[in-house]
Amino acid sequence: MSLLQISEPGQATAPHQHRLAAGIDLGTTNSLVATVRSGITETLADEDGHHLLPSVVYYSQAQAPVVGYPATEHAATDPQNTIASVKRLMGRGVADVQHIGKELPYDFTDKDGMPELKTAAGNLSPVQVSADILLALKKRAEDSLGGELTGVVITVPAYFDDAQRQATKDAATLAGLKVLRLLNEPTAAAVAYGLDKNAEGIYAIYDLGGGTFDISILRLQRGVFEVMATAGDSALGGDDLDRAISLWIMQQANIADTASRQLSRQIQSIARTAKETLTLEDCVSIAVPLGDGKHWQGELSRAQLHELVDPLIQKTLLPCRRALRDANLTTADIKEVVMVGGSTRMPRVRDKVRDFFGCEPHVDIDPDKVVAIGAAIQADLLAGNKPDEEMLLLDVIPLSLGIETMGSLVEKIVPRNTTIPTGRAQDFTTFKDGQTAMALHVVQGERDLVSDCRSLARFELRGIPPMVAGAARIRVTFQVDADGLLNVSAEEQTTGVRSEISVKPSYGLSDSDIERMLLEANAHAGEDAQTRMLREQQVEADRVMDALKAAIQADGNLLTEAEVVNIEAALLHLNSVAQGTDTQTIRQAIEQLDIVTRDFASRRMDSAIRKAMAGRGVNEFMEDSEHA
Ligand code: ADP
Ligand code: MG
Repeated sequence: MSLLQISEPGQATAPHQHRLAAGIDLGTTNSLVATVRSGITETLADEDGHHLLPSVVYYSQAQAPVVGYPATEHAATDPQNTIASVKRLMGRGVADVQHIGKELPYDFTDKDGMPELKTAAGNLSPVQVSADILLALKKRAEDSLGGELTGVVITVPAYFDDAQRQATKDAATLAGLKVLRLLNEPTAAAVAYGLDKNAEGIYAIYDLGGGTFDISILRLQRGVFEVMATAGDSALGGDDLDRAISLWIMQQANIADTASRQLSRQIQSIARTAKETLTLEDCVSIAVPLGDGKHWQGELSRAQLHELVDPLIQKTLLPCRRALRDANLTTADIKEVVMVGGSTRMPRVRDKVRDFFGCEPHVDIDPDKVVAIGAAIQADLLAGNKPDEEMLLLDVIPLSLGIETMGSLVEKIVPRNTTIPTGRAQDFTTFKDGQTAMALHVVQGERDLVSDCRSLARFELRGIPPMVAGAARIRVTFQVDADGLLNVSAEEQTTGVRSEISVKPSYGLSDSDIERMLLEANAHAGEDAQTRMLREQQVEADRVMDALKAAIQADGNLLTEAEVVNIEAALLHLNSVAQGTDTQTIRQAIEQLDIVTRDFASRRMDSAIRKAMAGRGVNEFMEDSEHA
């Protein structure tokens, strides 16, 4: 696969003029902002010295949105107005949210197919909530750097699709930030460790955060990163460890699992503190208030913790295996492993990962901060502060992009795993004589039938000059930019009439959706190929019958009565089998029709030549011959 290079903006910056740029890790649980100052990359703290900003926003009628730690204080008392984990909702449609939303304590409304959260401050889209988080980080950076930011790099999970990336960009725009680039989180982590300066090789990035687990396999080649595979579990993270510990506490304290939402939240937070304490200590004491001044008092040991969390940590190794398999690798191929996410602080997680990959993982950079630090290094570069250095970061398209063709078949234009940015073009033609418009349907997925893929967008190309079927040349171009956003254009080559669309689909895909679609594609590969042959034959039958009818209409006088009988019989036969399910029968019927019309075709050709010699237009001759 040829690697596409990304040209870096801002190369012409005047020397010594340092531009303020920042890297932002917009996390599900926590967000951070980092910057490069005097050659040192560091995350920025708030007035209280906190580097992490909990990705939580509290909305009320009276005051402006409250972001971060102060917002988390409202979680127990006013959960509906305390929005956490909004990243899960980014770029999702109402249907997705009905599914995800069950785990979230918020009320949603449907605004033109897009979900909005009902809060005391009105109905808010996930993009608006994210913008409030970004605004807090922007303020922190500008206060601390003493100036306005020129631009930022924001990180997103490698599996984020167009809609989720676009939603992230929209949130940045809403917060008044200029996005230099969206960067994949694993790539940012690798950059933070300077692996891009390393020898070529394959690296694994293991990211266990609060709500999600992601494993990414990156290949560094000629100074360029490429995502070879990603896998993960969108419902597995530190929160699940907390839940396992909470259940244990409730069991020990004899608290019914029908406890109030408020008490559950409280126990969950106690469990989390206990878990984090056990990262350094061997034992932790736990106290749960039971009301009326009463408490339950207990102890949790490291050994007990391991018993509770081991099955969950073990669960992260399944996607690791899957990612390796997808990339056609074994653990022996992995040169180094980078740890990302607060949960990889746990010694138990480090042990399991070391055992699995058979090498000591990188943990030197704070796993909470590593993504933001990599983003800051990129932002510094993209802002033009290092004109001599060149860094190329490449990502891939998770699922193939294509166009619907006749017979509801998918023609793939950009295959899955193509590195981005990329541009691909393919020529299409008209199906019917005199066709002046074309309906374009952009789809994503690996299957052969449109109905098995995901519909991204539809648009039309109008103003095609009328020609015989198959004569028009419509060039359809797919362009995916460095942020993974898709633009599709269609242009008729002779007149230059053009139409295009930017894909901003309202329904996102989760990594588990992607995985499911890939599995299905593998499972149905043989079946799909057969269906494709059948559909193509059906379309061909229609085309042949249409063309023949038009020819008879035009030159029926060239036929003898016997020929008419034969042709009509063959035509009738083809018509009767054309929509059937036997590819072979349709093919034979087309061949049969071809045989009985061969003389007719050559006679038409002769007649056309005679007409042409009689001073008729050459164009007409060309069209006629192509027609026949
Ligand atoms: P996200 O990427 O989802 O925003 P983070 O990477 O910030 O999440 O990780 C948050 C998770 O890390 C939480 O579940 C938190 O409990 C866990 N965590 C943070 N510090 C520790 C620690 N010292 N020991 C164990 N878990 C920790
Ligand atoms: Mg994270």
